Amino acid sequence: MTALGAPRMIQDRALRPNTKVLPEHIRLNNRTLVLQTLYRTGLQSRADLARETGLTRVTVSDLISELMGENLVIELGQRQESRPGKPATLLDINRAAFQIISLDLSGHTRLRGAVLSLDGAVLSSSGLDLAGARGEAAFDKVAELLAQVIARATAPILGVGIGSPGIVDRAGVVRNAPNLGWRDQPLQARLQDTTGLPVRVVNDANAAVLAEHSFGGADHDLLLVKVGHGVGAGLLIGGRAIFGERFAAGEIGHVVVGTDDGPLCACGKSGCLEAWLSVPRLTAAIHDATAAAATPADAERAIFDILSEAGRRLGIILAPVVGALNLLEIVLSGPPELLDGALSAATVETLRSRTMATETGDLTLRMTAQGEDIVLRGAAVMVLSAQLGVS
Ligand SMILES: [Zn+2]
Repeated sequence: MTALGAPRMIQDRALRPNTKVLPEHIRLNNRTLVLQTLYRTGLQSRADLARETGLTRVTVSDLISELMGENLVIELGQRQESRPGKPATLLDINRAAFQIISLDLSGHTRLRGAVLSLDGAVLSSSGLDLAGARGEAAFDKVAELLAQVIARATAPILGVGIGSPGIVDRAGVVRNAPNLGWRDQPLQARLQDTTGLPVRVVNDANAAVLAEHSFGGADHDLLLVKVGHGVGAGLLIGGRAIFGERFAAGEIGHVVVGTDDGPLCACGKSGCLEAWLSVPRLTAAIHDATAAAATPADAERAIFDILSEAGRRLGIILAPVVGALNLLEIVLSGPPELLDGALSAATVETLRSRTMATETGDLTLRMTAQGEDIVLRGAAVMVLSAQLGVS
């Protein structure tokens, strides 16, 4: 139907397509294309949008009327033109018309929540101590925090995004989250019932990788390693989050590193990545080494060794993944005082020495700039993507 619409669909097509493209799909695709273009670039005229998307002027005008009717797009005055003639009217997403509610359930002791703008800025944030709650009591805490955050919104709510630890399926059922005592918890459906709002639940590391993609300038292929109470990863390939056959893609925390055993892990195996790298393990090891050191210089050396070894173990786990997927961008999320230094230096060195220099020569490993709001912002991306098709 359009110059740009058609190739996009071909590019996104699965290897063995099994559904035909219907006219309503094409209309939805075009509508999303217009919204996405406005979301990323802002302030465009109808003519700009037609040029940018490859859609006809008529199609663009028609879609804009529809989107203005839904209060999703607004006119923002006229462009200052030097040329004679009628100046073009500038359009943008109506960025103040809606807000997004996000929850981050990945903290070990504290749940976090926030009201965000459509641009992913945190407008107000709240928290609630988990106080050891598990199972149904943990669900009640989540519902209580959600009600608090919803009450703080100052514009209609586009939807609710939630980043949960553990394994989360496509229907937002938390299949397994030991820290919260959840098994097959239908979190998305239950919270949708209680709030009457559209809710999206996703694994916390998958949320984090979406935040990096939308707000961190990451492009198509990206691996994000989230180090906290546990260790998990989010993977984005060709601009798509990868969830895996059993929704556990990126669960590298309980993969054993090497064949030389290592510290005993909570799961019963020895030498899991998490046993080397999680924040409680690193903090405890540093604490013990500092207490045992005779001088501050000894303590510093011991801490350097602990962080370097953890970084080396991470590099060993990531090397085959980086090689297999030809990844060039790895992002770390977690406490910078632990990750940003000896640890990340050892990871890069290990990755370089264990992969083909020709394929991974430009490999970069960096800390995320999203800070501790990364899961909240990523959960908001889930809502934007589900409700508006933009990210
Ligand atoms: Zn383990």
